[in-house]
Amino acid sequence: MALSVKEETGRGLSFVKRVYPARALGLGLGALAVGAALLPQQYHPVFWALWALNGFIWPHLAYFKALRSPTPFQTERRHLLFDSSSGGFWVAAMGFNPLASCMIIMMLWMNNIAAGGVRLFLKGVGSSLAGLIAGLLIFGWHPNLESDQLIIFSCLPMLIAYPVAIGSITYRLAIQLHKQKELLKQLSRVDGLTGLYNRHYWETRVTDLMAMVKRTAQPLSLILLDVDHFKSINDTHGHLAGDQVLQQLARLLRLNLRESELLGRYGGEEFALVLPNTGKEAAYATAERLRRVVQVAHFNSDRGAGDLKCTISLGVASYHTGFQDYNDWFRAADGALYTAKEQGRNRTVSAGGATDLVSA
Ligand code: GH3
Ligand code: MG
Ligand code: MG
Repeated sequence: MALSVKEETGRGLSFVKRVYPARALGLGLGALAVGAALLPQQYHPVFWALWALNGFIWPHLAYFKALRSPTPFQTERRHLLFDSSSGGFWVAAMGFNPLASCMIIMMLWMNNIAAGGVRLFLKGVGSSLAGLIAGLLIFGWHPNLESDQLIIFSCLPMLIAYPVAIGSITYRLAIQLHKQKELLKQLSRVDGLTGLYNRHYWETRVTDLMAMVKRTAQPLSLILLDVDHFKSINDTHGHLAGDQVLQQLARLLRLNLRESELLGRYGGEEFALVLPNTGKEAAYATAERLRRVVQVAHFNSDRGAGDLKCTISLGVASYHTGFQDYNDWFRAADGALYTAKEQGRNRTVSAGGATDLVSA
Protein backbone atom coordinates (compact mmCIF):
# COMPACT_ATOMS: atom_id res chain seq x y z
CA MET A 1 0.00 0.00 0.00
CA ALA A 2 1.47 3.37 -1.03
CA LEU A 3 1.45 5.96 1.75
CA SER A 4 1.63 9.73 1.32
CA VAL A 5 4.65 11.56 2.75
CA LYS A 6 2.52 12.82 5.64
CA GLU A 7 1.17 9.34 6.41
CA GLU A 8 4.67 7.90 6.11
CA THR A 9 6.03 10.51 8.55
CA GLY A 10 3.14 9.97 10.99
CA ARG A 11 3.57 6.21 10.90
CA GLY A 12 7.35 6.62 11.31
CA LEU A 13 6.99 8.95 14.30
CA SER A 14 4.66 6.60 16.14
CA PHE A 15 7.10 3.76 15.38
CA VAL A 16 10.03 5.79 16.77
CA LYS A 17 8.08 6.67 19.91
CA ARG A 18 6.94 3.09 20.38
CA VAL A 19 10.40 1.52 20.20
CA TYR A 20 12.24 4.23 22.16
CA PRO A 21 11.60 3.03 25.75
CA ALA A 22 12.45 -0.61 24.99
CA ARG A 23 15.49 0.35 22.97
CA ALA A 24 16.86 2.74 25.60
CA LEU A 25 16.25 0.08 28.26
CA GLY A 26 17.82 -2.68 26.13
CA LEU A 27 20.96 -0.71 25.25
CA GLY A 28 21.36 0.64 28.82
CA LEU A 29 20.99 -2.74 30.53
CA GLY A 30 23.00 -4.43 27.74
CA ALA A 31 25.84 -1.98 28.43
CA LEU A 32 25.93 -3.11 32.09
CA ALA A 33 26.58 -6.70 31.02
CA VAL A 34 29.10 -5.63 28.38
CA GLY A 35 30.89 -3.46 30.97
CA ALA A 36 31.19 -6.41 33.36
CA ALA A 37 32.62 -8.60 30.56
CA LEU A 38 35.03 -5.84 29.42
CA LEU A 39 36.58 -5.37 32.87
CA PRO A 40 39.14 -8.21 32.62
CA GLN A 41 40.36 -6.87 29.27
CA GLN A 42 41.78 -3.62 30.73
CA TYR A 43 41.11 -1.45 27.68
CA HIS A 44 42.17 2.17 27.12
CA PRO A 45 39.77 4.77 28.66
CA VAL A 46 38.78 5.84 25.14
CA PHE A 47 36.97 2.52 24.72
CA TRP A 48 35.21 2.98 28.03
CA ALA A 49 34.03 6.39 26.84
CA LEU A 50 32.79 4.73 23.66
CA TRP A 51 31.03 2.06 25.73
CA ALA A 52 29.25 4.71 27.86
CA LEU A 53 28.32 6.72 24.79
CA ASN A 54 26.89 3.71 22.99
CA GLY A 55 24.96 2.31 25.95
CA PHE A 56 23.65 5.36 27.76
CA ILE A 57 23.74 8.38 25.45
CA TRP A 58 23.32 7.08 21.89
CA PRO A 59 19.74 5.71 22.33
CA HIS A 60 18.53 9.17 23.37
CA LEU A 61 20.50 11.01 20.67
CA ALA A 62 19.15 8.54 18.10
CA TYR A 63 15.61 9.13 19.34
CA PHE A 64 15.79 12.91 18.86
CA LYS A 65 17.56 12.47 15.52
CA ALA A 66 14.80 10.13 14.29
CA LEU A 67 12.06 12.49 15.53
CA ARG A 68 13.51 15.32 13.47
CA SER A 69 14.14 13.21 10.39
CA PRO A 70 11.89 13.74 7.34
CA THR A 71 11.74 9.91 7.10
CA PRO A 72 11.68 8.78 10.74
CA PHE A 73 10.83 5.17 9.94
CA GLN A 74 13.85 4.68 7.67
CA THR A 75 16.12 6.60 10.06
CA GLU A 76 15.07 4.44 12.97
CA ARG A 77 15.67 1.25 10.98
CA ARG A 78 19.18 2.50 10.17
CA HIS A 79 19.69 3.13 13.88
CA LEU A 80 18.62 -0.41 14.69
CA LEU A 81 21.15 -1.74 12.17
CA PHE A 82 23.80 0.48 13.71
CA ASP A 83 22.91 -1.04 17.12
CA SER A 84 23.42 -4.51 15.65
CA SER A 85 26.81 -3.64 14.22
CA SER A 86 27.96 -2.03 17.48
CA GLY A 87 26.72 -5.19 19.27
CA GLY A 88 29.06 -7.27 17.05
CA PHE A 89 31.86 -4.85 17.86
CA TRP A 90 31.35 -5.28 21.64
CA VAL A 91 31.15 -9.07 21.29
CA ALA A 92 34.68 -9.03 19.85
CA ALA A 93 35.77 -6.54 22.54
CA MET A 94 34.38 -8.84 25.29
CA GLY A 95 36.40 -11.72 23.87
CA PHE A 96 33.20 -13.56 22.92
CA ASN A 97 32.03 -13.94 26.50
CA PRO A 98 29.16 -16.38 25.85
CA LEU A 99 26.56 -15.14 28.34
CA ALA A 100 26.91 -11.38 27.75
CA SER A 101 27.36 -11.86 23.98
CA CYS A 102 24.28 -14.06 23.54
CA MET A 103 22.20 -11.75 25.64
CA ILE A 104 22.97 -8.53 23.78
CA ILE A 105 22.81 -10.22 20.36
CA MET A 106 19.42 -11.72 21.31
CA MET A 107 18.14 -8.26 22.24
CA LEU A 108 19.51 -6.54 19.11
CA TRP A 109 18.30 -9.16 16.61
CA MET A 110 14.92 -9.25 18.33
CA ASN A 111 14.68 -5.47 17.78
CA ASN A 112 15.56 -5.99 14.11
CA ILE A 113 13.00 -8.70 13.43
CA ALA A 114 10.29 -6.88 15.40
CA ALA A 115 10.85 -3.66 13.45
CA GLY A 116 11.40 -4.97 9.93
CA GLY A 117 10.68 -8.70 9.72
CA VAL A 118 13.09 -11.23 8.24
CA ARG A 119 14.69 -8.72 5.87
CA LEU A 120 15.81 -6.35 8.63
CA PHE A 121 16.77 -9.36 10.76
CA LEU A 122 19.10 -10.65 8.02
CA LYS A 123 20.53 -7.16 7.56
CA GLY A 124 20.99 -7.04 11.34
CA VAL A 125 22.91 -10.33 11.25
CA GLY A 126 25.11 -8.92 8.46
CA SER A 127 25.68 -5.69 10.42
CA SER A 128 26.64 -7.65 13.53
CA LEU A 129 29.14 -9.70 11.53
CA ALA A 130 30.64 -6.49 10.08
CA GLY A 131 30.89 -5.01 13.59
CA LEU A 132 32.43 -8.24 14.83
CA ILE A 133 35.13 -8.17 12.14
CA ALA A 134 35.87 -4.49 12.87
CA GLY A 135 36.14 -5.37 16.59
CA LEU A 136 38.47 -8.27 15.88
CA LEU A 137 40.67 -6.00 13.74
CA ILE A 138 40.85 -3.41 16.54
CA PHE A 139 41.02 -5.61 19.65
CA GLY A 140 42.50 -8.80 18.22
CA TRP A 141 41.60 -12.31 19.39
CA HIS A 142 41.78 -12.78 23.16
CA PRO A 143 38.84 -14.91 24.25
CA ASN A 144 37.12 -14.47 27.62
CA LEU A 145 34.87 -17.54 27.79
CA GLU A 146 34.41 -17.69 31.57
CA SER A 147 31.34 -15.93 33.04
CA ASP A 148 32.19 -14.87 36.59
CA GLN A 149 29.62 -13.84 39.19
CA LEU A 150 29.82 -10.16 38.21
CA ILE A 151 28.94 -10.96 34.59
CA ILE A 152 26.10 -13.26 35.64
CA PHE A 153 24.59 -10.66 37.99
CA SER A 154 25.03 -7.85 35.47
CA CYS A 155 22.97 -9.85 32.97
CA LEU A 156 20.03 -10.43 35.33
CA PRO A 157 18.35 -6.98 35.07
CA MET A 158 18.24 -7.28 31.29
CA LEU A 159 17.04 -10.88 31.33
CA ILE A 160 14.08 -9.88 33.47
CA ALA A 161 13.26 -6.34 32.35
CA TYR A 162 13.63 -6.62 28.59
CA PRO A 163 11.07 -9.40 27.92
CA VAL A 164 8.63 -7.56 30.19
CA ALA A 165 9.13 -4.34 28.18
CA ILE A 166 8.64 -6.19 24.88
CA GLY A 167 5.56 -7.93 26.27
CA SER A 168 4.08 -4.58 27.28
CA ILE A 169 4.71 -3.09 23.82
CA THR A 170 3.13 -6.13 22.16
CA TYR A 171 0.10 -5.88 24.44
CA ARG A 172 -0.39 -2.17 23.69
CA LEU A 173 -0.07 -2.88 19.97
CA ALA A 174 -2.67 -5.65 20.17
CA ILE A 175 -5.11 -3.29 21.94
CA GLN A 176 -4.47 -0.55 19.35
CA LEU A 177 -4.98 -3.04 16.53
CA HIS A 178 -8.25 -4.20 18.03
CA LYS A 179 -9.52 -0.60 18.32
CA GLN A 180 -8.54 0.15 14.74
CA LYS A 181 -10.27 -3.01 13.55
CA GLU A 182 -13.44 -1.97 15.35
CA LEU A 183 -13.25 1.53 13.86
CA LEU A 184 -12.75 0.14 10.36
CA LYS A 185 -15.68 -2.21 10.83
CA GLN A 186 -17.81 0.72 11.96
CA LEU A 187 -16.69 2.88 9.02
CA SER A 188 -17.40 0.12 6.52
CA ARG A 189 -20.98 -0.06 7.77
CA VAL A 190 -22.08 3.54 7.66
CA ASP A 191 -22.76 6.03 4.93
CA GLY A 192 -20.33 8.95 5.14
CA LEU A 193 -22.87 11.73 4.55
CA THR A 194 -25.77 10.71 6.78
CA GLY A 195 -24.18 8.34 9.28
CA LEU A 196 -26.93 5.79 8.57
CA TYR A 197 -26.14 2.20 7.61
CA ASN A 198 -24.94 2.00 4.03
CA ARG A 199 -26.76 -0.17 1.51
CA HIS A 200 -24.40 -3.13 1.75
CA TYR A 201 -24.54 -3.42 5.53
CA TRP A 202 -28.25 -2.67 5.65
CA GLU A 203 -28.93 -5.51 3.19
CA THR A 204 -26.77 -7.87 5.24
CA ARG A 205 -28.80 -7.05 8.36
CA VAL A 206 -32.07 -7.43 6.46
CA THR A 207 -31.05 -10.86 5.16
CA ASP A 208 -30.28 -11.91 8.75
CA LEU A 209 -33.70 -10.64 9.87
CA MET A 210 -35.41 -12.55 7.05
CA ALA A 211 -33.72 -15.78 8.12
CA MET A 212 -34.95 -15.19 11.68
CA VAL A 213 -38.48 -14.43 10.51
CA LYS A 214 -38.59 -17.71 8.55
CA ARG A 215 -37.97 -19.55 11.80
CA THR A 216 -40.28 -17.52 14.06
CA ALA A 217 -43.03 -16.51 11.59
CA GLN A 218 -42.93 -12.92 12.90
CA PRO A 219 -44.32 -10.23 10.58
CA LEU A 220 -41.71 -8.01 8.90
CA SER A 221 -42.26 -4.91 6.78
CA LEU A 222 -40.18 -2.91 4.36
CA ILE A 223 -40.56 0.79 3.58
CA LEU A 224 -38.75 2.46 0.68
CA LEU A 225 -38.69 6.20 0.87
CA ASP A 226 -37.62 8.72 -1.75
CA VAL A 227 -37.36 12.50 -1.54
CA ASP A 228 -39.71 14.23 -3.98
CA HIS A 229 -38.19 16.43 -6.65
CA PHE A 230 -34.87 16.39 -4.90
CA LYS A 231 -33.12 17.35 -8.10
CA SER A 232 -34.88 20.73 -7.99
CA ILE A 233 -33.57 21.30 -4.42
CA ASN A 234 -30.06 20.77 -5.76
CA ASP A 235 -30.73 22.90 -8.82
CA THR A 236 -32.25 25.76 -6.83
CA HIS A 237 -30.12 25.79 -3.69
CA GLY A 238 -26.93 23.99 -4.71
CA HIS A 239 -25.55 20.54 -4.09
CA LEU A 240 -24.20 21.49 -0.65
CA ALA A 241 -27.66 22.54 0.51
CA GLY A 242 -28.94 19.24 -0.92
CA ASP A 243 -26.39 17.39 1.18
CA GLN A 244 -27.47 19.27 4.29
CA VAL A 245 -31.12 18.39 3.64
CA LEU A 246 -30.17 14.71 3.31
CA GLN A 247 -28.25 14.85 6.60
CA GLN A 248 -31.09 16.54 8.46
CA LEU A 249 -33.67 14.24 6.92
CA ALA A 250 -31.66 11.19 8.02
CA ARG A 251 -31.49 12.59 11.57
CA LEU A 252 -35.21 13.37 11.57
CA LEU A 253 -36.12 9.86 10.40
CA ARG A 254 -33.79 8.24 12.94
CA LEU A 255 -35.28 10.38 15.72
CA ASN A 256 -38.75 9.18 14.81
CA LEU A 257 -37.91 5.49 14.78
CA ARG A 258 -37.21 2.83 17.37
CA GLU A 259 -33.71 1.46 17.90
CA SER A 260 -34.80 -1.92 16.49
CA GLU A 261 -36.13 -0.38 13.26
CA LEU A 262 -33.46 -0.79 10.62
CA LEU A 263 -32.89 2.40 8.65
CA GLY A 264 -30.32 2.70 5.88
CA ARG A 265 -29.41 5.02 3.04
CA TYR A 266 -30.20 2.95 0.01
CA GLY A 267 -28.55 5.34 -2.40
CA GLY A 268 -28.82 8.98 -3.47
CA GLU A 269 -31.95 10.45 -1.90
CA GLU A 270 -33.52 7.06 -1.24
CA PHE A 271 -33.77 5.47 2.18
CA ALA A 272 -34.89 2.00 3.18
CA LEU A 273 -36.42 0.88 6.43
CA VAL A 274 -37.25 -2.54 7.81
CA LEU A 275 -39.64 -2.82 10.73
CA PRO A 276 -39.31 -6.03 12.74
CA ASN A 277 -42.41 -7.60 14.23
CA THR A 278 -44.62 -5.21 12.24
CA GLY A 279 -47.48 -6.16 9.93
CA LYS A 280 -48.83 -4.34 6.90
CA GLU A 281 -51.20 -1.90 8.63
CA ALA A 282 -48.75 -0.92 11.36
CA ALA A 283 -46.01 -0.40 8.75
CA TYR A 284 -48.34 1.76 6.72
CA ALA A 285 -49.12 3.84 9.84
CA THR A 286 -45.37 4.29 10.50
CA ALA A 287 -44.79 5.36 6.89
CA GLU A 288 -47.58 7.90 7.13
CA ARG A 289 -46.24 9.23 10.42
CA LEU A 290 -42.81 9.74 8.82
CA ARG A 291 -44.33 11.38 5.77
CA ARG A 292 -46.17 13.92 7.95
CA VAL A 293 -43.13 14.61 10.11
CA VAL A 294 -41.10 15.42 6.99
CA GLN A 295 -43.91 17.46 5.45
CA VAL A 296 -44.01 19.88 8.38
CA ALA A 297 -40.25 20.02 8.96
CA HIS A 298 -38.09 23.00 8.03
CA PHE A 299 -34.61 22.19 6.82
CA ASN A 300 -31.60 24.45 7.18
CA SER A 301 -29.25 25.14 4.34
CA ASP A 302 -26.05 27.17 4.19
CA ARG A 303 -28.17 30.08 2.94
CA GLY A 304 -30.52 30.27 5.91
CA ALA A 305 -32.10 28.46 8.83
CA GLY A 306 -35.37 26.69 8.20
CA ASP A 307 -35.71 27.98 4.67
CA LEU A 308 -36.09 24.63 2.91
CA LYS A 309 -39.06 22.32 2.70
CA CYS A 310 -39.35 18.90 1.15
CA THR A 311 -41.70 15.95 0.99
CA ILE A 312 -41.21 12.22 0.62
CA SER A 313 -43.01 9.37 -1.11
CA LEU A 314 -43.10 5.93 0.44
CA GLY A 315 -43.70 2.37 -0.72
CA VAL A 316 -44.57 -0.29 1.87
CA ALA A 317 -44.40 -4.08 1.45
CA SER A 318 -44.81 -6.72 4.14
CA TYR A 319 -42.81 -9.89 3.89
CA HIS A 320 -44.75 -13.03 3.03
CA THR A 321 -43.87 -16.57 2.08
CA GLY A 322 -44.88 -15.96 -1.54
CA PHE A 323 -41.64 -14.02 -2.01
CA GLN A 324 -38.81 -16.18 -3.32
CA ASP A 325 -36.15 -13.94 -1.84
CA TYR A 326 -35.23 -10.44 -0.73
CA ASN A 327 -35.29 -9.17 -4.34
CA ASP A 328 -38.98 -10.09 -4.72
CA TRP A 329 -39.79 -8.28 -1.50
CA PHE A 330 -37.77 -5.24 -2.54
CA ARG A 331 -39.47 -5.16 -5.97
CA ALA A 332 -42.87 -5.11 -4.25
CA ALA A 333 -41.91 -2.08 -2.12
CA ASP A 334 -40.25 -0.38 -5.09
CA GLY A 335 -43.41 -0.90 -7.17
CA ALA A 336 -45.47 0.70 -4.41
CA LEU A 337 -43.06 3.64 -4.26
CA TYR A 338 -43.31 4.03 -8.03
CA THR A 339 -47.11 4.12 -7.73
CA ALA A 340 -46.85 6.78 -5.00
CA LYS A 341 -44.71 8.91 -7.32
CA GLU A 342 -47.12 8.37 -10.21
CA GLN A 343 -50.11 9.31 -8.11
CA GLY A 344 -48.63 12.72 -7.35
CA ARG A 345 -45.88 12.23 -4.68
CA ASN A 346 -45.98 13.11 -0.96
CA ARG A 347 -47.93 9.94 -0.29
CA THR A 348 -47.67 6.36 0.93
CA VAL A 349 -48.67 3.33 -1.10
CA SER A 350 -48.77 -0.14 0.32
CA ALA A 351 -48.12 -3.11 -2.00
CA GLY A 352 -50.51 -6.06 -2.06
CA GLY A 353 -53.06 -5.96 -4.87
CA ALA A 354 -56.65 -5.66 -3.76
CA THR A 355 -55.67 -4.65 -0.23
CA ASP A 356 -53.56 -1.69 -1.37
CA LEU A 357 -53.62 1.21 1.00
CA VAL A 358 -53.16 4.62 -0.49
CA SER A 359 -53.13 7.99 1.19
CA ALA A 360 -52.02 11.53 0.63
P1 GH3 B 1 -38.61 12.29 -7.85
O1 GH3 B 1 -39.64 13.01 -7.09
O2 GH3 B 1 -39.14 11.59 -9.07
O3 GH3 B 1 -37.86 11.35 -6.98
O4 GH3 B 1 -37.60 13.38 -8.37
P2 GH3 B 1 -36.10 13.58 -7.96
O5 GH3 B 1 -35.65 14.86 -8.52
O6 GH3 B 1 -35.96 13.43 -6.49
O7 GH3 B 1 -35.43 12.32 -8.60
P3 GH3 B 1 -34.21 12.15 -9.55
O8 GH3 B 1 -33.88 10.68 -9.49
O9 GH3 B 1 -34.48 12.73 -10.90
O10 GH3 B 1 -33.06 12.96 -8.89
C1 GH3 B 1 -32.43 12.58 -7.73
C2 GH3 B 1 -31.39 13.62 -7.45
O11 GH3 B 1 -30.74 13.37 -6.21
C3 GH3 B 1 -30.32 13.68 -8.50
C4 GH3 B 1 -29.04 13.62 -7.75
O12 GH3 B 1 -28.14 14.59 -8.17
C5 GH3 B 1 -29.46 13.90 -6.33
N1 GH3 B 1 -28.58 13.27 -5.37
C6 GH3 B 1 -28.31 11.96 -5.23
N2 GH3 B 1 -27.42 11.78 -4.21
C7 GH3 B 1 -27.14 13.01 -3.72
C8 GH3 B 1 -26.29 13.47 -2.66
O13 GH3 B 1 -25.62 12.73 -1.96
N3 GH3 B 1 -26.26 14.81 -2.44
C9 GH3 B 1 -26.98 15.68 -3.19
N4 GH3 B 1 -26.91 16.97 -2.92
N5 GH3 B 1 -27.78 15.26 -4.19
C10 GH3 B 1 -27.86 13.95 -4.45
MG1 MG C 1 -36.44 11.61 -5.54
MG1 MG D 1 -34.55 8.59 -6.29
